[in-house]
Amino acid sequence: MKDRYKEYCTGCGLCGSVLQVSFIKDAKGYEVPDLSEGSRSFCEKVCPAAGKASAQMSSGNIWGRKKSVYLGWAKDPVIREKASSGGIITAVCCYLLESGLVDAVIHTKASGKIPYETETVVSVTVEDVLACMGSRYSVSAPLKNILQTVDANKRYAFVGKPCDVSALHLYMNDNPKLKSNILYLLSFFCAGQPSEDAQKRLLEHLKMNTEMCRKIQYRGNGWPGYTMAEDNSGRTEKMTYAESWGHILGRDVRHSCRFCLDGIGEFADISCGDAWYITPDNRPDFSEALGRNVIFARTEKGDALLKQIHNSGGVYLEQYDENQLSIIQRYQLERRAGMRAMLSAMKLCGRSVPSYDIQTLKSFEKLLPRKNRIRRFWGTIKRIVLGKI
Ligand SMILES: Cc1cc2nc3c(=O)[nH]c(=O)nc-3n(C[C@H](O)[C@H](O)[C@H](O)COP(=O)(O)OP(=O)(O)OC[C@H]3O[C@@H](n4cnc5c(N)ncnc54)[C@H](O)[C@@H]3O)c2cc1C
Repeated sequence: MKDRYKEYCTGCGLCGSVLQVSFIKDAKGYEVPDLSEGSRSFCEKVCPAAGKASAQMSSGNIWGRKKSVYLGWAKDPVIREKASSGGIITAVCCYLLESGLVDAVIHTKASGKIPYETETVVSVTVEDVLACMGSRYSVSAPLKNILQTVDANKRYAFVGKPCDVSALHLYMNDNPKLKSNILYLLSFFCAGQPSEDAQKRLLEHLKMNTEMCRKIQYRGNGWPGYTMAEDNSGRTEKMTYAESWGHILGRDVRHSCRFCLDGIGEFADISCGDAWYITPDNRPDFSEALGRNVIFARTEKGDALLKQIHNSGGVYLEQYDENQLSIIQRYQLERRAGMRAMLSAMKLCGRSVPSYDIQTLKSFEKLLPRKNRIRRFWGTIKRIVLGKI
């Protein structure tokens, strides 16, 4: 059986920062840690696959812990236009810096070298934050140098995928000093990190290759906006978000993402997703519109911050009926509620699985009809037999 922590590594990079674990790229372009016995005991404390995070999840509440759920967007029309959804994360980061609540924001930006790679940056001005707007549908490891980045005399906000935030949250609980430096955790709904292979396939569809391409924008400049690549001569090619995510990127994500129990940023102070409109036949509507976020204020601190920004005119907020999420974020619901069925299939086939808390799994499972769980179980068996997992 494979090593659970290697197999279900999310690539957050925290073990690299804390224990100087080295990483090697696997065949798909994901960085995988070279874990020793000592580093495994570290993973047990922080890794989403270890079960500690799942035991702290809001049992029975499929959309996670919350103080309030809002529909909203950035009031600045440029941010709303250029950001991934409605620009809430960018607006929050800008407010945190401008109001002096933090000195800097640690987040992710497109790499200046290879257009589909990312780098972790420390933003200290609004201009820096604006340069990070939008979703990078590729690999990111924002915790790889977190301890080396944080200055003990400064206060930060951190933006990361749900798995990054979950690992950092657990690590900070054992390291209160860091908690006094990183004051806000911000996250977003995440369906997975597409591989390097997927990026190359995306470029092929856009009639480019890695050498020719100097810029990729996955979405934004509209909502959802187009996926767009630009080559060295300035030629641009585009495809719809539904095509790029639905047919290429979303089909080739990290193994751990397929078995992720937290695609909704459960451990963030604020977590955002797309608040798609709903079509008359009850599907998410991906046709172009002005951007909108669904916003979970998951802690008192997160809720107080959002209200403060709303009062200052930085964001628009209204109450949101989270029942709509079962239509517009169906994948998130089914992955979470169908996890027990998928893990049962994996175990039956002798495969290693994340050690998620069984009570949490059972509480989520109740929210998915039995026939749907059975379909997930057999679907997983089929994928194993076909060598797809
Ligand atoms: C890998 C990935 C998967 C996603 N899956 C879903 C999904 O299943 N459902 C859904 O509703 N939405 C998904 N999204 C999009 C997400 O909903 C929006 O990013 C979120 O609503 C925030 O929108 P915003 O306009 O407030 O963000 P913005 O204001 O544009 O801010 C985005 C912030 O996210 C950071 N960021 C961008 N890419 C990455 C990355 N790869 N790793 C770490 N940080 C990053 C940026 O640094 C920036 O601070 C996904 C995004 C990504 C990157």
